[in-house]
Amino acid sequence: MSLPTKKKIFEVLESVRDPEIPALTVREMGMLRDIEIDEDGKIIIHFTPSYSGCPATDLIKVDIMAALQEAGYKNIEIRDVLSPPWTTDVFTPETRAKLKASGITPPVETTSDKRLLLSPGKTVPCPYCDSNKTELLSSFGTTACKSLYRCLECLQPFDYFKCH
Ligand SMILES: [Zn+2]
Repeated sequence: MSLPTKKKIFEVLESVRDPEIPALTVREMGMLRDIEIDEDGKIIIHFTPSYSGCPATDLIKVDIMAALQEAGYKNIEIRDVLSPPWTTDVFTPETRAKLKASGITPPVETTSDKRLLLSPGKTVPCPYCDSNKTELLSSFGTTACKSLYRCLECLQPFDYFKCH
């Protein structure tokens, strides 16, 4: 087995998805901060949990370990990186497009908007028809990190990924 490289490990971890947002990999979620290979060849995963207390976090770590072990790597450590904290601001345009394609509206505000209370009457567009005529059905959707909305145009219910 050749020595692990950062690139190779990132490739292996592309198979690990967020169980609550199956459309996204843990890298796309912004949970993989960095990967380090030390002098002994130990793989150190710098991992940032998304929503703190999210029940999926432990499961994701198990999946990361399993994916690496399956690829033949044994010497692995997952290190929690809690600072700076994870926010939805790390979502790239590709990540946002993938969320939308899976029927989830990505956050319309950033954490700094939220701190400054700049978006009191925010509009959450429908991911299916882009209509702005939507209504909030429940602050808690299929998981705690999402809210449930309904489109008044195409009548589809959809999840909104809350800004965090
Ligand atoms: Zn719609």
